[in-house]
Amino acid sequence: MSDFEWKYLGPIFDAHTHIWNTSFLDKTLEELNQLGIKAQLVIAHLKETRDIADQLPGQFVFAKYLSTRDIVAFRINGVVHEIKKMRDEGFTLAKMWVAPGWRNYMQNLTSAFSITDPRLAPIFSTLEAEGYPLLFHVADPDTYYATTYAKSAIYGTKEEHLNQLEKLIEKYSDLTFQLAHFGAQPEIHRLPHLGKWFDQYPNIVVDTASSRWMARELSKDPKKARQFLIRYSKRILFGTDATLNKPPEEQNLKQSNANQLSPYNRRFLAQRILWETKDRKVPLPFPDPDTEAHGGTFINGLNLPKRVLADLYWRNAQRLYGH
Ligand SMILES: [Zn+2]
Repeated sequence: MSDFEWKYLGPIFDAHTHIWNTSFLDKTLEELNQLGIKAQLVIAHLKETRDIADQLPGQFVFAKYLSTRDIVAFRINGVVHEIKKMRDEGFTLAKMWVAPGWRNYMQNLTSAFSITDPRLAPIFSTLEAEGYPLLFHVADPDTYYATTYAKSAIYGTKEEHLNQLEKLIEKYSDLTFQLAHFGAQPEIHRLPHLGKWFDQYPNIVVDTASSRWMARELSKDPKKARQFLIRYSKRILFGTDATLNKPPEEQNLKQSNANQLSPYNRRFLAQRILWETKDRKVPLPFPDPDTEAHGGTFINGLNLPKRVLADLYWRNAQRLYGH
């Protein structure tokens, strides 16, 4: 895996990671440093954010995870209260996860939920008034809607979810949205639509979290993908969606794969191959359940220019979240 030559040698800002607990954190931090990752946006699913921040001053930007359970049940007062405490607790932005899959965890609730429900308005208006960006995950890959979410009467359709998201982006024009996972639109046929959003709404950026989703879809037409990345290079933030503590799948990967790269490193490597190389048909260095049954996911490198890589890996996130 070390036979790749990287075009970009500067610092890297990983603008989408998670932390659930502090086990193995020291090991991970050492690894990040070796990989050139000098700053990170961390979605914190735990209380000890201050302790972690103290370990490496200046490295972390924390996102407060707003409770999906409360949001989908319209228990809004508590959420707004949490938002108001964010600055004192060391948070820079908020994260909201309302992807269709929430219905699998909370089946007793109505499926007719929409993020545009007026009862949720205080969340967005408070974030906007307090000046917190929102890392927002609303929709999922086309592959999920074709399989696990096929019952659209329960889950809704991707088009509906994207339309609802657009209404919020338009309405809360002073709120900065970091739309997770390329705004759920890295599929080649969706790039023109995402481009329209970029042209119309200056308050949005996207991240490249989910290395397998990005690699799988953008590799399908490297020419179109490359043009898109170059055109909107100021609006796209590198992110891995990796977990900083020991992820549950680590054990399985070790058994199934002879090379000993960590799960973090595999995701990182997949994106570097995608963004920087001109290689063709490189196997994704970790399993992709969405393509496993029909041959797997292969990366076609986009060979992005160095200035675009600098925007993607560092400058854009630094401009938004830098200390
Ligand atoms: Zn994530």
